[in-house]
Amino acid sequence: MPFFSADEVEPDHSVNMHALLLDSLEDQIAVIDSSGTIVYVNRAWSAFGTENGLASGAFGAGTNYLDVCNFSSNRGDRLANVAMDGLKEVLEGRRATYYFEYPCHSPTEKRWFMMRVTALQDPAKNLFVISHHNITQRKLAEETAEHLSLHDPLTGLANRRYLDQLLGNEWRRNSRSRMPVSFIMFDLDHFKDYNDDLGHPAGDQCLVKVARFLNTFSRRPGDLALRYGGEEFGLFLVNTGLEQAHAIAESVRMGIHDLSILYSGTKRMTVSAGVASVVPDNDHEYGLLIKEADSALYRSKQAGRNQTISATPAAE
Ligand code: GH3
Ligand code: MG
Ligand code: MG
Repeated sequence: MPFFSADEVEPDHSVNMHALLLDSLEDQIAVIDSSGTIVYVNRAWSAFGTENGLASGAFGAGTNYLDVCNFSSNRGDRLANVAMDGLKEVLEGRRATYYFEYPCHSPTEKRWFMMRVTALQDPAKNLFVISHHNITQRKLAEETAEHLSLHDPLTGLANRRYLDQLLGNEWRRNSRSRMPVSFIMFDLDHFKDYNDDLGHPAGDQCLVKVARFLNTFSRRPGDLALRYGGEEFGLFLVNTGLEQAHAIAESVRMGIHDLSILYSGTKRMTVSAGVASVVPDNDHEYGLLIKEADSALYRSKQAGRNQTISATPAAE
């Protein structure tokens, strides 16, 4: 089939052809004037309003789009406020184009859109085109990719990258509130022997059991149980001082013993733990907290395993 422009098909009906074309698009498109008043909407724009319970008078031609944004913004919709600022910048000629990605979840499905605002390609008219493009598929793919990059596929626990991200945020929050945070580093004892005795797949199942148990100790928002790597696990606890963290580490240690994960006949899987705590401040790198927990763990291995050792409070 040859390619042709709308004008070449039927010059007399080109306007109609353009309207049909715009109504055939899935993107929601409106044209507004410089005061924000909507002068044109395509079929998808009207349909979206209707499907989402908006009366056509609240969304269609004649409505002021800035008023619509303002209304949402006044109801506490921060994103509407951001969108409105960007929109105004284009209307006032301070920028040529504005893109804005935003969530717009319905009660039944997650949705995201990208709003694009640009001047209509006719400088004499001083009109602007707003389009909303559904980017849900891309956002869901991004969410999946992000989840995969922040979690361990075997146990489903968070990984070290997740901890780094979390600590970046929690550090700031806790250094403002001057609340202590603690980190417990765990390492399964003689795990190599477990693998050698029962095989790698059984070793994997052991790690899954331990992970599931450890995760029950992550109880508050900001807490995090993670697989630090191999047979090493971590537990980050907000608003928790050294003594309390030590007690929690002991509960985990004894709990893992009581899981009765047996190998080589009568041996039980046990874990060693190292605990460190600090009141975050701007100078105290969180890497140091991890390092202190790690050296406490090393000492508990040296001291015979299946025990908990805390870093000295001088670390704080
Ligand atoms: P220690 O008490 O000193 O910690 O001794 P260990 O045997 O636990 O420590 P070592 O570092 O010698 O061995 C760790 C073992 O953990 C070796 C490695 O094959 C095993 N391992 C690491 N990741 C996995 C995993 O994902 N699955 C399984 N099944 N084994 C793993
Ligand atoms: Mg290890
Ligand atoms: Mg080990």
